Amino acid sequence: MGLGTYRKMRDFRRTPEPKGAVSKASRRRFVVQEHHASKLHFDFRLEVGGVLKSWSVPRGPSLDPSEKRLAVETEDHPVEYLKFEGLIPEGEYGAGEHMRWDGGTYVALGEGSAAEQLEAGRLDFELKGEKLRGAFTLVRMKRRAGEWLLFKRSDEFAEADWELRLRKPVDGVETIKGKSKKAKGRSEGGGAGRVRQFDAAKKAGGGKVVPVARALKAKAPEGDLNVRVGREVVPLTHLERVYWPEEGYTKGDLIRYYYEVADYILPYLKDRPLIMKRYPTGVGGPSFHQHDVNEAPSFARTVPLEVEDGGAHEVDYVVGDNLATLLYMANLGAVERHPWHSRVADLGHPDWFVFDLDPAEGVTFETICDVALTTRDVLARLGLDSYPKTSGSRGIHVYVPVEPVYDYEQIAELAEQVATAVAREQARVATVERSKRRRGAGMIYVDHMQNARGKSVVAPYSVRPKPGATVSAPLEWREVERRKVRTSDFHIRNMLRRLERKGDLFAPVLRKGQQLEGVFEQARELSARRKKRAT
Ligand code: MN
Repeated sequence: MGLGTYRKMRDFRRTPEPKGAVSKASRRRFVVQEHHASKLHFDFRLEVGGVLKSWSVPRGPSLDPSEKRLAVETEDHPVEYLKFEGLIPEGEYGAGEHMRWDGGTYVALGEGSAAEQLEAGRLDFELKGEKLRGAFTLVRMKRRAGEWLLFKRSDEFAEADWELRLRKPVDGVETIKGKSKKAKGRSEGGGAGRVRQFDAAKKAGGGKVVPVARALKAKAPEGDLNVRVGREVVPLTHLERVYWPEEGYTKGDLIRYYYEVADYILPYLKDRPLIMKRYPTGVGGPSFHQHDVNEAPSFARTVPLEVEDGGAHEVDYVVGDNLATLLYMANLGAVERHPWHSRVADLGHPDWFVFDLDPAEGVTFETICDVALTTRDVLARLGLDSYPKTSGSRGIHVYVPVEPVYDYEQIAELAEQVATAVAREQARVATVERSKRRRGAGMIYVDHMQNARGKSVVAPYSVRPKPGATVSAPLEWREVERRKVRTSDFHIRNMLRRLERKGDLFAPVLRKGQQLEGVFEQARELSARRKKRAT
């Protein structure tokens, strides 16, 4: 135990965190801190042996004994950290607001001292805090370095369905829910779950309602506004908030972009569960994934789905259905649109699959274009048409539209065979190696792993939380052949112009349900033949 790691990770000229020292006394205190870092999480710390043993708990602690929370071991902190609250500056380790959420003292319950129990991989203890009280257990997971589970034990302080309340709500999110229990008799896609539906018009209060077109015509929309979208009212807030500090683009600019391209992007979102990643204070600020929604305006459809997320549980997804929902999500700080590959009516059968060509640092865009063309050619040999778009980040996505009658397992296998063939033909620059470490420098990862149920790739015309407010832009194969385009060429300021000139280049992805009879066999032969040749 010591503070070497803690100190090495920090520049005390810049961070307000205490340098601290190993203390001689151990007073068995604990603290839980709410940390609005790049990902909102909670830090759980126990005073043991003169330092604070620390864990990062992504979903925070719970008083519900059925909620076992992942707790990732982090470096020992000095006891001075018990009282630390403040803003860790941008660029420093753990940048973001740090505040005390709960604290008090603890007593070790099991045999031996707390230090001995932790060493052995399981600590039973009792907390005497303001929010957290009663018996808890921390247990180290086998075969998962540094990962523990933290959970409440049953006693008079236990509380089923307890919800963690944030001290500092992030735009509409005040509580972090536990995993929902599977509702009996509810089938996929059936009925509203535990989502609280609210009437957005009423919530908007007595404020004036402006037609959306007029509201977004303003050069720099600011403040809060209620806009009319068809028959719905969508409340928009903090329109002046800067989301891209470098460019000075605001939340108003983001909402206006989605309004302008709505006719083009909505067909790719319609009837599909959407995964939301929210940046409530802009793209440099904290962000968090929100699959599960607690409440939604009445115009937004939600669907409860069973998902595998370290254990099966049910999650309420927003379904991308209409303009009002599109704008509502933008107002929540959801910069990107991440639709499932399949639709609500038939979630087991995707209607496209995707290759994500993801380059390592330093790979030229020309090389990425080469690998995209090889992907096109391998698919063409199987008789399949494919469609490229920029990822909006650094790579290219290649989409293959299929008739939605094949299941995810079949599709995933086919995608793997194609990706493997592509990597073989471009062996010097492309790989299907999943481990980043083993991939080697300068390689493009031909990622075929996103073709599973519940996975997603950013939609065409989706904005990315990247410098320049880039957009994922469909391309013509001609443009890829010429190797002249760059991902940074397409952004919220010029995408509409390109759309007006070229139309929706991705339209065939929605129209062309390609059949795969025969293709599976050919792909299998292709990989078998290659294997034989290799031996
Ligand atoms: Mn932290």
